Amino acid sequence: MLSQRQLFLKYQAQTTDFPLLLEVERAEGVYMYGPNGERYLDLISGIGVSNVGHRHPEVIAAIHKQLDKYLHLMVYGEVVQGPQVQLSAQLVKTLPSHLNNVYLVNSGSEAVEGALKLAKRYTGRTELISFNNAYHGSTHGSLSLNGSENFKNAFRPLLPDVRQIQHNSLPDLENITTRTAAVILETVQGEAGVRLPALGYLTTLRERCHQTGTLLILDEIQAGFGRTGTFWAFEQFGIEPDMLVCAKGMGGGMPIGAFIASQEVMGSLKNDPLLGHITTFGGHPVSCAASLATLQVLQNSDLLAQVPAKANLFRQLLVHPCIKSIRNCGLLMAAEFESFAVLKPVIDRAILNGVLTDWFLFCDNSMRIAPPLTITEAEITAACQIILKSIKEVFP
Ligand code: PMP
Repeated sequence: MLSQRQLFLKYQAQTTDFPLLLEVERAEGVYMYGPNGERYLDLISGIGVSNVGHRHPEVIAAIHKQLDKYLHLMVYGEVVQGPQVQLSAQLVKTLPSHLNNVYLVNSGSEAVEGALKLAKRYTGRTELISFNNAYHGSTHGSLSLNGSENFKNAFRPLLPDVRQIQHNSLPDLENITTRTAAVILETVQGEAGVRLPALGYLTTLRERCHQTGTLLILDEIQAGFGRTGTFWAFEQFGIEPDMLVCAKGMGGGMPIGAFIASQEVMGSLKNDPLLGHITTFGGHPVSCAASLATLQVLQNSDLLAQVPAKANLFRQLLVHPCIKSIRNCGLLMAAEFESFAVLKPVIDRAILNGVLTDWFLFCDNSMRIAPPLTITEAEITAACQIILKSIKEVFP
Protein backbone atom coordinates (compact mmCIF):
# COMPACT_ATOMS: atom_id res chain seq x y z
CA MET A 1 0.00 0.00 0.00
CA LEU A 2 1.25 3.46 -0.84
CA SER A 3 1.98 5.80 2.03
CA GLN A 4 0.22 9.16 2.32
CA ARG A 5 3.40 10.81 1.11
CA GLN A 6 3.58 8.53 -1.93
CA LEU A 7 -0.08 9.19 -2.74
CA PHE A 8 0.61 12.91 -2.43
CA LEU A 9 3.45 12.67 -4.93
CA LYS A 10 1.49 10.41 -7.26
CA TYR A 11 -1.94 12.02 -7.40
CA GLN A 12 -1.56 15.62 -6.31
CA ALA A 13 -0.36 18.28 -8.71
CA GLN A 14 3.08 19.34 -7.55
CA THR A 15 3.66 23.06 -7.27
CA THR A 16 7.36 23.15 -6.50
CA ASP A 17 10.57 21.16 -6.81
CA PHE A 18 11.00 21.52 -3.06
CA PRO A 19 7.75 20.54 -1.33
CA LEU A 20 8.16 20.49 2.44
CA LEU A 21 6.59 17.01 2.48
CA LEU A 22 5.61 17.31 6.11
CA GLU A 23 2.82 14.96 7.06
CA VAL A 24 0.52 16.70 9.50
CA GLU A 25 -2.32 15.02 11.35
CA ARG A 26 -3.39 17.81 13.66
CA ALA A 27 -2.55 21.39 14.50
CA GLU A 28 -3.23 23.40 17.61
CA GLY A 29 -1.95 26.83 18.67
CA VAL A 30 1.62 27.24 17.39
CA TYR A 31 2.18 23.54 16.81
CA MET A 32 1.58 21.04 14.03
CA TYR A 33 1.69 17.33 14.86
CA GLY A 34 2.75 14.47 12.60
CA PRO A 35 1.37 10.92 12.53
CA ASN A 36 4.24 9.47 14.57
CA GLY A 37 4.31 11.94 17.42
CA GLU A 38 6.44 14.51 15.59
CA ARG A 39 5.83 18.08 16.71
CA TYR A 40 6.68 21.17 14.67
CA LEU A 41 6.69 24.70 16.00
CA ASP A 42 5.09 26.66 13.18
CA LEU A 43 7.04 29.82 12.36
CA ILE A 44 5.20 30.54 9.11
CA SER A 45 1.50 30.32 10.00
CA GLY A 46 0.55 28.82 6.63
CA ILE A 47 2.12 31.93 5.06
CA GLY A 48 0.58 34.54 7.29
CA VAL A 49 -2.76 32.82 7.80
CA SER A 50 -2.88 31.44 11.35
CA ASN A 51 -2.32 34.80 13.04
CA VAL A 52 -4.42 33.71 16.04
CA GLY A 53 -2.87 30.23 16.00
CA HIS A 54 -4.21 26.97 14.65
CA ARG A 55 -7.76 26.13 15.69
CA HIS A 56 -8.23 29.06 18.01
CA PRO A 57 -11.07 27.95 20.33
CA GLU A 58 -13.20 31.03 19.61
CA VAL A 59 -12.79 30.56 15.88
CA ILE A 60 -13.72 26.88 16.15
CA ALA A 61 -16.77 27.72 18.29
CA ALA A 62 -17.96 30.31 15.75
CA ILE A 63 -17.54 27.79 12.92
CA HIS A 64 -19.54 25.15 14.82
CA LYS A 65 -22.30 27.64 15.52
CA GLN A 66 -22.59 28.60 11.87
CA LEU A 67 -22.46 24.95 10.70
CA ASP A 68 -25.68 24.37 12.62
CA LYS A 69 -27.46 27.25 10.86
CA TYR A 70 -26.65 27.14 7.16
CA LEU A 71 -23.81 26.67 4.69
CA HIS A 72 -24.08 28.20 1.24
CA LEU A 73 -27.31 30.01 0.36
CA MET A 74 -26.71 32.11 -2.73
CA VAL A 75 -24.05 33.91 -4.77
CA TYR A 76 -22.52 36.87 -2.94
CA GLY A 77 -24.65 39.97 -2.60
CA GLU A 78 -28.20 38.71 -3.10
CA VAL A 79 -29.36 37.29 0.23
CA VAL A 80 -28.94 39.02 3.60
CA GLN A 81 -26.67 36.70 5.56
CA GLY A 82 -25.88 37.48 9.19
CA PRO A 83 -22.22 36.44 9.17
CA GLN A 84 -21.49 38.57 6.08
CA VAL A 85 -23.31 41.59 7.45
CA GLN A 86 -21.70 41.36 10.88
CA LEU A 87 -18.22 40.85 9.46
CA SER A 88 -18.52 43.76 7.02
CA ALA A 89 -19.78 46.07 9.77
CA GLN A 90 -16.94 45.11 12.12
CA LEU A 91 -14.28 45.34 9.42
CA VAL A 92 -15.36 48.87 8.57
CA LYS A 93 -14.95 49.85 12.24
CA THR A 94 -11.26 48.97 12.05
CA LEU A 95 -10.77 51.35 9.10
CA PRO A 96 -10.72 55.08 8.30
CA SER A 97 -14.27 56.35 7.81
CA HIS A 98 -14.13 56.54 4.00
CA LEU A 99 -13.37 52.80 3.72
CA ASN A 100 -16.93 51.86 4.46
CA ASN A 101 -17.95 49.31 1.81
CA VAL A 102 -16.85 45.70 1.78
CA TYR A 103 -16.95 43.14 -1.02
CA LEU A 104 -16.29 39.65 0.38
CA VAL A 105 -14.56 37.09 -1.84
CA ASN A 106 -12.70 33.78 -1.51
CA SER A 107 -9.01 34.56 -1.61
CA GLY A 108 -6.30 37.14 -1.92
CA SER A 109 -6.03 36.81 -5.68
CA GLU A 110 -9.77 37.26 -6.09
CA ALA A 111 -9.72 40.34 -3.86
CA VAL A 112 -7.00 41.83 -6.09
CA GLU A 113 -8.98 40.97 -9.23
CA GLY A 114 -12.03 42.71 -7.81
CA ALA A 115 -10.04 45.77 -6.80
CA LEU A 116 -8.47 46.10 -10.26
CA LYS A 117 -11.82 45.82 -11.99
CA LEU A 118 -13.31 48.35 -9.61
CA ALA A 119 -10.46 50.80 -10.19
CA LYS A 120 -10.94 50.57 -13.97
CA ARG A 121 -14.69 50.96 -13.69
CA TYR A 122 -14.50 53.93 -11.31
CA THR A 123 -11.78 55.90 -13.05
CA GLY A 124 -12.58 54.95 -16.64
CA ARG A 125 -8.80 54.48 -17.05
CA THR A 126 -6.89 51.32 -17.88
CA GLU A 127 -3.30 51.77 -16.75
CA LEU A 128 -2.26 49.95 -13.60
CA ILE A 129 1.02 50.41 -11.76
CA SER A 130 2.73 47.95 -9.46
CA PHE A 131 6.24 47.51 -8.08
CA ASN A 132 9.30 45.39 -8.54
CA ASN A 133 9.18 42.24 -6.41
CA ALA A 134 5.47 42.67 -5.83
CA TYR A 135 3.31 39.61 -5.24
CA HIS A 136 -0.44 40.07 -5.57
CA GLY A 137 -1.61 36.62 -6.62
CA SER A 138 -1.58 33.91 -9.22
CA THR A 139 -4.58 34.53 -11.48
CA HIS A 140 -3.96 36.21 -14.84
CA GLY A 141 -4.93 39.68 -13.62
CA SER A 142 -3.09 39.57 -10.32
CA LEU A 143 -0.16 37.80 -11.97
CA SER A 144 0.13 40.73 -14.39
CA LEU A 145 1.08 42.90 -11.41
CA ASN A 146 3.77 40.49 -10.31
CA GLY A 147 7.15 42.13 -9.89
CA SER A 148 9.18 39.20 -11.20
CA GLU A 149 9.54 38.69 -14.96
CA ASN A 150 10.37 35.01 -14.40
CA PHE A 151 6.94 34.36 -12.99
CA LYS A 152 5.14 36.11 -15.83
CA ASN A 153 7.01 35.16 -18.98
CA ALA A 154 5.44 31.76 -19.56
CA PHE A 155 1.93 33.21 -19.41
CA ARG A 156 2.07 36.19 -21.73
CA PRO A 157 0.11 37.95 -23.03
CA LEU A 158 -1.09 39.11 -19.63
CA LEU A 159 -3.07 42.27 -18.85
CA PRO A 160 -2.05 45.13 -21.12
CA ASP A 161 -1.27 48.56 -19.71
CA VAL A 162 0.47 47.40 -16.56
CA ARG A 163 3.66 49.24 -15.60
CA GLN A 164 6.17 48.25 -13.01
CA ILE A 165 8.05 50.88 -11.04
CA GLN A 166 10.84 50.63 -8.47
CA HIS A 167 9.75 50.30 -4.86
CA ASN A 168 10.99 53.21 -2.75
CA SER A 169 12.15 55.22 -5.76
CA LEU A 170 10.77 58.78 -5.52
CA PRO A 171 11.65 59.69 -9.15
CA ASP A 172 9.71 56.63 -10.36
CA LEU A 173 6.52 58.06 -8.87
CA GLU A 174 6.50 60.48 -11.85
CA ASN A 175 5.21 57.51 -13.86
CA ILE A 176 1.89 57.87 -12.07
CA THR A 177 -0.17 60.16 -14.30
CA THR A 178 -3.75 61.11 -15.11
CA ARG A 179 -3.81 57.97 -17.28
CA THR A 180 -3.27 55.72 -14.26
CA ALA A 181 -6.36 54.00 -12.85
CA ALA A 182 -4.64 52.57 -9.81
CA VAL A 183 -1.37 51.96 -8.08
CA ILE A 184 -1.24 48.75 -6.08
CA LEU A 185 1.34 48.25 -3.36
CA GLU A 186 1.88 45.85 -0.50
CA THR A 187 2.18 48.16 2.52
CA VAL A 188 5.07 45.93 3.56
CA GLN A 189 6.26 43.78 0.68
CA GLY A 190 5.99 40.14 1.75
CA GLU A 191 7.35 37.78 -0.88
CA ALA A 192 10.09 40.30 -1.68
CA GLY A 193 11.48 39.20 1.69
CA VAL A 194 9.86 41.80 3.99
CA ARG A 195 10.71 45.16 2.40
CA LEU A 196 9.43 48.21 4.23
CA PRO A 197 8.60 51.56 2.67
CA ALA A 198 11.34 54.15 3.22
CA LEU A 199 10.60 57.03 5.55
CA GLY A 200 8.12 59.41 3.91
CA TYR A 201 7.81 57.32 0.74
CA LEU A 202 4.17 56.39 1.26
CA THR A 203 3.23 60.01 1.96
CA THR A 204 4.73 61.09 -1.36
CA LEU A 205 3.05 58.19 -3.15
CA ARG A 206 -0.26 59.14 -1.51
CA GLU A 207 0.12 62.76 -2.64
CA ARG A 208 0.99 61.77 -6.20
CA CYS A 209 -2.13 59.58 -6.39
CA HIS A 210 -4.28 62.45 -5.10
CA GLN A 211 -2.76 64.84 -7.66
CA THR A 212 -3.42 62.53 -10.59
CA GLY A 213 -6.81 61.15 -9.51
CA THR A 214 -5.29 57.69 -9.26
CA LEU A 215 -6.66 55.21 -6.76
CA LEU A 216 -4.15 53.88 -4.25
CA ILE A 217 -4.79 50.22 -3.48
CA LEU A 218 -2.93 48.80 -0.51
CA ASP A 219 -2.51 45.03 -0.47
CA GLU A 220 -2.55 43.87 3.15
CA ILE A 221 -3.27 40.27 2.32
CA GLN A 222 -0.08 39.25 4.09
CA ALA A 223 0.55 42.28 6.34
CA GLY A 224 -2.98 42.84 7.62
CA PHE A 225 -4.97 41.37 10.48
CA GLY A 226 -2.41 42.15 13.13
CA ARG A 227 0.67 40.59 11.55
CA THR A 228 2.74 43.79 11.87
CA GLY A 229 1.50 44.75 15.36
CA THR A 230 -1.26 47.13 14.28
CA PHE A 231 -4.53 45.80 12.93
CA TRP A 232 -3.57 47.18 9.50
CA ALA A 233 0.03 47.85 8.60
CA PHE A 234 -0.77 51.21 6.94
CA GLU A 235 -1.67 52.60 10.38
CA GLN A 236 2.08 52.75 11.06
CA PHE A 237 2.88 54.86 8.02
CA GLY A 238 0.50 57.81 8.34
CA ILE A 239 -1.46 57.33 5.13
CA GLU A 240 -4.83 55.96 4.09
CA PRO A 241 -5.53 54.00 0.90
CA ASP A 242 -8.51 54.42 -1.44
CA MET A 243 -8.92 50.67 -1.49
CA LEU A 244 -7.69 47.88 0.72
CA VAL A 245 -7.39 44.20 -0.13
CA CYS A 246 -7.12 41.54 2.55
CA ALA A 247 -7.32 37.74 2.92
CA LYS A 248 -5.04 35.13 4.57
CA GLY A 249 -5.08 35.95 8.32
CA MET A 250 -8.58 37.35 7.92
CA GLY A 251 -10.22 33.91 8.05
CA GLY A 252 -8.41 32.49 11.06
CA GLY A 253 -7.71 29.42 8.90
CA MET A 254 -10.80 29.55 6.66
CA PRO A 255 -10.68 30.82 3.07
CA ILE A 256 -11.90 34.38 2.67
CA GLY A 257 -10.78 37.71 1.23
CA ALA A 258 -12.17 41.17 0.69
CA PHE A 259 -11.69 44.34 -1.26
CA ILE A 260 -12.81 47.41 0.57
CA ALA A 261 -13.46 50.93 -0.72
CA SER A 262 -15.75 53.91 -0.17
CA GLN A 263 -19.42 53.57 -0.96
CA GLU A 264 -18.90 56.00 -3.83
CA VAL A 265 -16.10 54.00 -5.44
CA MET A 266 -17.76 50.64 -4.80
CA GLY A 267 -21.03 51.97 -6.21
CA SER A 268 -19.49 52.05 -9.68
CA LEU A 269 -19.28 48.25 -9.69
CA LYS A 270 -22.97 47.44 -9.83
CA ASN A 271 -25.30 47.04 -12.81
CA ASP A 272 -23.81 49.51 -15.26
CA PRO A 273 -23.82 48.09 -17.86
CA LEU A 274 -23.31 44.63 -16.33
CA LEU A 275 -22.55 43.18 -12.94
CA GLY A 276 -19.02 44.12 -11.96
CA HIS A 277 -17.85 41.07 -10.11
CA ILE A 278 -19.61 37.78 -9.55
CA THR A 279 -18.59 35.19 -6.99
CA THR A 280 -20.52 32.07 -6.00
CA PHE A 281 -18.72 31.28 -2.77
CA GLY A 282 -17.37 34.74 -1.93
CA GLY A 283 -18.01 35.57 1.73
CA HIS A 284 -18.94 32.00 2.61
CA PRO A 285 -20.94 32.19 5.85
CA VAL A 286 -18.70 29.71 7.69
CA SER A 287 -15.61 31.68 6.65
CA CYS A 288 -17.31 34.92 7.68
CA ALA A 289 -18.13 33.51 11.11
CA ALA A 290 -14.51 32.41 11.52
CA SER A 291 -13.27 35.79 10.33
CA LEU A 292 -15.50 37.72 12.72
CA ALA A 293 -14.25 35.58 15.61
CA THR A 294 -10.65 36.16 14.49
CA LEU A 295 -11.20 39.90 14.37
CA GLN A 296 -12.69 39.85 17.86
CA VAL A 297 -9.83 37.77 19.26
CA LEU A 298 -7.36 40.33 17.90
CA GLN A 299 -9.36 43.26 19.25
CA ASN A 300 -10.21 41.84 22.66
CA SER A 301 -6.77 40.51 23.56
CA ASP A 302 -3.38 42.15 23.96
CA LEU A 303 -1.92 40.11 21.09
CA LEU A 304 -1.27 43.20 18.96
CA ALA A 305 0.37 45.10 21.80
CA GLN A 306 2.73 42.16 22.40
CA VAL A 307 3.97 42.01 18.81
CA PRO A 308 6.89 44.49 19.12
CA ALA A 309 8.35 42.74 22.20
CA LYS A 310 8.01 39.33 20.56
CA ALA A 311 9.66 40.56 17.38
CA ASN A 312 12.48 42.09 19.41
CA LEU A 313 13.05 38.83 21.21
CA PHE A 314 13.55 37.08 17.86
CA ARG A 315 15.99 39.83 16.87
CA GLN A 316 17.92 39.52 20.12
CA LEU A 317 18.17 35.75 20.00
CA LEU A 318 18.85 35.15 16.32
CA VAL A 319 22.48 36.19 16.42
CA HIS A 320 24.94 34.12 14.40
CA PRO A 321 27.58 34.94 11.76
CA CYS A 322 25.40 33.08 9.20
CA ILE A 323 22.53 35.50 9.78
CA LYS A 324 23.49 38.66 7.91
CA SER A 325 20.52 40.81 8.89
CA ILE A 326 16.93 40.70 10.03
CA ARG A 327 14.21 42.79 8.38
CA ASN A 328 10.84 43.03 10.06
CA CYS A 329 7.64 44.90 10.56
CA GLY A 330 6.19 43.33 13.68
CA LEU A 331 6.03 39.57 13.30
CA LEU A 332 6.47 39.70 9.53
CA MET A 333 10.18 38.90 9.60
CA ALA A 334 12.99 37.85 7.29
CA ALA A 335 16.38 36.58 8.47
CA GLU A 336 18.88 37.00 5.67
CA PHE A 337 21.53 34.36 4.98
CA GLU A 338 24.32 34.53 2.43
CA SER A 339 22.49 32.47 -0.19
CA PHE A 340 19.81 29.85 -0.77
CA ALA A 341 22.58 27.25 -0.72
CA VAL A 342 23.35 28.22 2.87
CA LEU A 343 19.75 28.72 3.96
CA LYS A 344 18.07 25.62 2.49
CA PRO A 345 19.98 23.01 4.51
CA VAL A 346 19.35 25.04 7.66
CA ILE A 347 15.61 25.05 6.96
CA ASP A 348 15.64 21.30 6.29
CA ARG A 349 17.57 20.69 9.48
CA ALA A 350 15.28 22.95 11.53
CA ILE A 351 12.28 20.94 10.34
CA LEU A 352 13.97 17.72 11.48
CA ASN A 353 14.63 19.48 14.78
CA GLY A 354 10.98 20.52 15.09
CA VAL A 355 10.77 24.09 13.75
CA LEU A 356 8.98 24.93 10.52
CA THR A 357 10.25 27.87 8.47
CA ASP A 358 10.81 28.47 4.77
CA TRP A 359 11.99 31.15 2.38
CA PHE A 360 10.31 33.83 0.28
CA LEU A 361 9.16 33.54 -3.32
CA PHE A 362 11.38 36.41 -4.52
CA CYS A 363 14.01 36.27 -1.82
CA ASP A 364 15.39 32.78 -1.42
CA ASN A 365 18.31 33.78 0.78
CA SER A 366 15.99 34.84 3.60
CA MET A 367 14.27 32.72 6.20
CA ARG A 368 10.57 33.44 6.66
CA ILE A 369 9.62 34.03 10.28
CA ALA A 370 5.93 34.81 10.74
CA PRO A 371 4.65 32.75 13.65
CA PRO A 372 1.13 32.86 15.06
CA LEU A 373 0.89 36.06 17.10
CA THR A 374 -0.10 33.82 20.01
CA ILE A 375 3.45 32.46 20.26
CA THR A 376 4.83 32.84 23.80
CA GLU A 377 8.25 34.18 24.77
CA ALA A 378 9.23 30.67 25.89
CA GLU A 379 8.24 29.29 22.48
CA ILE A 380 10.19 32.04 20.71
CA THR A 381 13.24 31.18 22.81
CA ALA A 382 12.85 27.48 22.01
CA ALA A 383 12.39 28.20 18.29
CA CYS A 384 15.50 30.40 18.14
CA GLN A 385 17.58 27.82 20.01
CA ILE A 386 16.54 25.20 17.47
CA ILE A 387 17.37 27.47 14.53
CA LEU A 388 20.82 28.22 15.98
CA LYS A 389 21.39 24.55 16.78
CA SER A 390 20.38 23.67 13.20
CA ILE A 391 22.87 26.19 11.78
CA LYS A 392 25.62 24.68 13.96
CA GLU A 393 24.75 21.15 12.88
CA VAL A 394 24.82 22.07 9.19
CA PHE A 395 27.96 24.24 9.44
CA PRO A 396 29.92 22.75 12.39
N1 PMP B 1 -1.08 39.48 -2.07
C1 PMP B 1 -0.13 39.18 -1.19
C2 PMP B 1 0.67 40.28 -0.56
C3 PMP B 1 0.14 37.85 -0.85
O1 PMP B 1 1.11 37.56 0.02
C4 PMP B 1 -0.64 36.83 -1.45
C5 PMP B 1 -0.41 35.36 -1.13
N2 PMP B 1 0.89 35.00 -0.83
C6 PMP B 1 -1.64 37.19 -2.36
C7 PMP B 1 -1.84 38.52 -2.64
C8 PMP B 1 -2.50 36.15 -3.03
O2 PMP B 1 -3.36 35.55 -2.13
P1 PMP B 1 -4.01 34.11 -2.44
O3 PMP B 1 -2.91 33.11 -2.45
O4 PMP B 1 -5.02 33.93 -1.32
O5 PMP B 1 -4.70 34.22 -3.76
